[in-house]
Amino acid sequence: MATPVLEIDGLSKHFGGVAAVDGVSLSLEPGRIYGLIGPNGSGKTTLFNCITGIERCQAGRVSFNGERIDGLKPYEIARKGIGRTFQVIRVFPELSALENLLVVTRGGLAEAEARALELLRFVKLEGLRNEYAGNLSYGQQKLVEFVRVLMRDPTLILLDEPAAGVNRTLLNDLLDAVRRLRDRGKTVLLVEHDMKVVMGLCETVFVLDHGEKIAEGEPGVIQTDERVIEAYFGR
Ligand code: ADP
Ligand code: MG
Repeated sequence: MATPVLEIDGLSKHFGGVAAVDGVSLSLEPGRIYGLIGPNGSGKTTLFNCITGIERCQAGRVSFNGERIDGLKPYEIARKGIGRTFQVIRVFPELSALENLLVVTRGGLAEAEARALELLRFVKLEGLRNEYAGNLSYGQQKLVEFVRVLMRDPTLILLDEPAAGVNRTLLNDLLDAVRRLRDRGKTVLLVEHDMKVVMGLCETVFVLDHGEKIAEGEPGVIQTDERVIEAYFGR
C-alpha cells in the first residue's frame, strides 16, 4: 500500500471541558477526494485547525507523507504542501482578484502572475482578474480563495464548506475544479453539509459527532448508517 498522504492517529483537542476532537484517527490516500461531515459543533473545523497547526492538539499525532507535522507552525505546515480554505471568507476586498493570488507568492513576480492567471482561468474568473475582490459575488470570492490556496501547489487541500452560499453555476465550476485536481494526483478533504455535493464528489466520507469519528465509508453506505442517522436526526 502507498504511504498515506495524511495519517491522523488518536487526535484530541479539548477546550476547557469540551472535547472538540476526541481521539480521531483517519488516513488519506493520494489522489482521492474525501468528505468530512457531522452536525454543527461536531469538531470539523477544529480538526482542520489541528492538521494545519492553528490549534495545538493535546494528544495524538498527525503525519504528512510519513513525516510528523503536529507541533509545527502553520506556515511550516503550509510549506510542506497542505493548503486550506476557511469557513469564513478571507479575501482582501480592496485588492483585485489577481492581486489576491499574488499576495501569497515569494520569488519572481512574472512567474507568479502567470500562475495566478492560469489558476483564475482554471475556475473561469480570468475575465474578472482586475476587479476588486470586494465587488465579486460571494461565490466568486470563494473561488478566488480556493485558487489562492493552489498558488503554492499543495498536495493536500482542505476545504471548509466550499459550497455554502455558492450558486449552482459557480458550484459546478468549483466541483469540476476539485475533480480535475484529484485527476492530477492531489488529495482533497472537504467539509460539506450538502449531501448531494458529498455524494457526487467524495469517494470516502468520515462522520464526526461530538468530536468522535462515528463512521467511515462510501457516501451511499454512510447515508444509511444507523449512528449517522441518529447523530443528524436523533435529537
Ligand atoms: P464544526 O466545524 O463541526 O461545526 P467546531 O470545530 O467549530 O465544529 O467546534 C467543535 C466544538 O468545539 C464546539 O463545541 C465549539 O463550540 C468548540 N470550539 C471550537 N473552537 C473553540 C474555541 N476556540 N474555544 C472554545 N471552544 C471552541
Ligand atoms: Mg466548522
